[in-house]
Amino acid sequence: MRYACQICGANVDESSDLTFTAPIGGRTLVIVNLSGEICPKCGEIYFDPESDENIDEIWQKFKQPSIVFERKLTQSGGRRVVGIPIEIENAILKGKNNVKVWLEGENIIVRPV
Ligand SMILES: [Zn+2]
Repeated sequence: MRYACQICGANVDESSDLTFTAPIGGRTLVIVNLSGEICPKCGEIYFDPESDENIDEIWQKFKQPSIVFERKLTQSGGRRVVGIPIEIENAILKGKNNVKVWLEGENIIVRPV
């Protein structure tokens, strides 16, 4: 049974080679080999329930953290300084005094070591 595209009304084609892409934290999440239907006319994609589940599972792993703090960058000894919120201190740092700092796209990553 072929369904009509909800965007343009054309008959969609079944496919097991669909790709899901979405921006996530300054990078792009790409999931390949998904199944569902694709519209040959406008390119709209309809993932089947199994693919939807896969996307959801992977998305949960890579999505932005649920706790985000906004902090003002201050100046100390000619360098920019940002305070670590106490909630993050308690959750991750747990008394550790050394961190590694690097860039990932537009994001500054700070990881305790
Ligand atoms: Zn269409």
